[in-house]
Amino acid sequence: MKIIMLGAPGAGKGTQAINIAKEYDIPHVSTGDIFRANIKNGTELGKAAKEYMDAGKLVPDEITIGMLLDRISEEDCKNGYVLDGFPRTIPQAESLKDALTKRGEKIDFAVDIEVPDTEITARMTGRRSCPKCGATYHIKFNPTKQEGVCDECGGELVQRADDKPETVEKRLHVYHEQTQPLIDFYEKEGVLCTIDGTVAPKDVFKAITEVLS
Ligand code: ADP
Ligand code: ADP
Ligand code: ZN
Repeated sequence: MKIIMLGAPGAGKGTQAINIAKEYDIPHVSTGDIFRANIKNGTELGKAAKEYMDAGKLVPDEITIGMLLDRISEEDCKNGYVLDGFPRTIPQAESLKDALTKRGEKIDFAVDIEVPDTEITARMTGRRSCPKCGATYHIKFNPTKQEGVCDECGGELVQRADDKPETVEKRLHVYHEQTQPLIDFYEKEGVLCTIDGTVAPKDVFKAITEVLS
């Protein structure tokens, strides 16, 4: 199964992509996580991506598309994957489509998690992330058992630099301008599923599994 997660920053893509990956035993491929790992390791790719990410802008397609296509060519992706944070632009969606078509493959579902902008800021400012395993929590809406410690792996939680209110505003703007048009793109492809993202995380997941099965 090949699944794409769509939705604004903070809509819950990462949270649900991790659930989907577990349920269907497929890898969770997050371009944001790949960029952050590269920044942490000081690679050239990380250096190129960092300034865009800190400014709340998209990393250019020339960098992002090749990186993602390489990742999904790896062995663990041969039975499918859940893409979280890619595609984010029409050229990214078209490149993915072309690459899959060449192999006689296609995306099965594009899951669009809908949350109004007014709820996004509260979600982002309370978000805490585990740099070790990629899990995300929320200080109010999805707290860990022990404050500041990842339930999954015991890692120390951090607040992402790009989750401060000014950057969140910019990212939302970029989302509406460059990423929202993908909803139409996947609607036309006949694979779009729209999910209400304002209910509790477990209920969002229930709605997703209902459409996927
Ligand atoms: P969120 O889950 O809050 O939407 P991500 O972790 O997916 O954030 O992405 C963080 C940042 O990484 C983005 O703001 C952007 O700068 C960069 N990024 C991630 N995926 C892409 C992509 N497909 N195209 C361009 N930039 C990306
Ligand atoms: P995205 O990957 O789309 O940027 P995340 O999955 O990281 O979004 O979620 C953003 C924040 O909102 C996190 O702090 C997360 O714990 C919280 N969150 C996720 N789903 C819900 C939900 N259904 N209700 C309330 N908060 C949520
Ligand atoms: Zn962890």
